Amino acid sequence: MSRVLLPGAVLDGRQVTLGVMGGGQLGRMFVHAAQAMGYATAVLDPDATSPAGLVSHHHFQTAYEDPQGLAQLAACSAAITTEFENVPAPALAILAATRTVAPAAAAVAIAQDRAQEKAHFDRCGVPCAPYAVIDSAAQLAAVPLDLLPGILKTARMGYDGKGQVRIATPQALQEAWQSLGGVACVLEKMLPLASECSVIVARGDDGAMVNFPVQHNLHHDGILAVTQVIDGLVAPALAAQLVTAARAIAEGVNYVGVLCVEFFVLQDGHWVVNEMAPRPHNSGHYTMDACDQSQFDLQVRTLAGLPLLQPRQHSPAIMLNLLGDLWFRADGKEASPPWDQVLALPGTHLHLYGKLSARKGRKMGHLNLIAATAAEVHANALQAAALLGIEAF
Ligand code: ATP
Ligand code: MG
Repeated sequence: MSRVLLPGAVLDGRQVTLGVMGGGQLGRMFVHAAQAMGYATAVLDPDATSPAGLVSHHHFQTAYEDPQGLAQLAACSAAITTEFENVPAPALAILAATRTVAPAAAAVAIAQDRAQEKAHFDRCGVPCAPYAVIDSAAQLAAVPLDLLPGILKTARMGYDGKGQVRIATPQALQEAWQSLGGVACVLEKMLPLASECSVIVARGDDGAMVNFPVQHNLHHDGILAVTQVIDGLVAPALAAQLVTAARAIAEGVNYVGVLCVEFFVLQDGHWVVNEMAPRPHNSGHYTMDACDQSQFDLQVRTLAGLPLLQPRQHSPAIMLNLLGDLWFRADGKEASPPWDQVLALPGTHLHLYGKLSARKGRKMGHLNLIAATAAEVHANALQAAALLGIEAF
């Protein structure tokens, strides 16, 4: 490969630097992985206290589309990735004029728009929930009624269940579309879910692709709460189909980088793809402690043009998402969760993102648990959940 950025290399008298658009927790964990391999790092994020900016060698505090900020990031970085799918695709295109950018703006643009994303899934031959695109009152009026009850989702800028309204009647659909500001939306049929799964793949610019095992995810209130990756939890035949589908989706956009594809498994045993995230994903955080390479290690490798090897999970794993809610006691007062008790449980790995204040629903960190057996990891995770006030699963 022509564009290998060897770890620790010195370019123009400086340590070779990897850049990332966005300074959230995913950027922070990318920065940690890159630094562990000897790269310097640069972050572009407007927030002076962004989780990634706080730990990076360089932090450019500008808006994502600020020409000066983008020029500084490009001048400093040999290659640039993104940690957040709402980074404007045009900003990535500007960076790509002078630097390696992975994933490419075109792939990110597809993931940013639910209508384009579903069209991409159709092109790749991967089934998704029945849906209709709504971007005018006429389209709203023409919606097939067999899509109800359904979920109206804004085509752009949704995350953690935001920008979504569940609706049962044509009247409610009208009102919901207006409440979302009459913007472009996708109406999806509400499906009877048996479970939710995700698959993370990493693909290099030479087309080499590897994947992590299938993750089994539990959501509360539209936000990921628990990920379990335990042999047998997802039937092997189903897991193989989901991996094949995720790989086809990556292949279909010539994707370079780490990609997460989310799936719904239906009560009748069929499955559909839900959406894709052009970056590492919350459901892949267990890889940091349960696999021989993490999703962030693979993000570094894809960006630097280094070899990709199929990752190996060495321990059954459960990840508990740590939302800001856990920082509030029953009396409403703010207090740190009882980490001393949680960390007394075997196989616990705490990752906090350095956020200065807790808010309900805010992702403050995650707790990975690993053990020698499925029964052990499950028992320990339930104890940790009880100590933290996370609902049992
Ligand atoms: P995130 O950023 O956490 O991935 P999001 O805002 O992109 O969330 P979705 O993944 O589209 O939102 O939906 C959030 C959750 O709502 C899903 O994980 C699922 O539990 C539920 N959901 C979404 N669409 C459907 C559907 N068509 N049928 C049944 N449940 C659904
Ligand atoms: Mg989702």
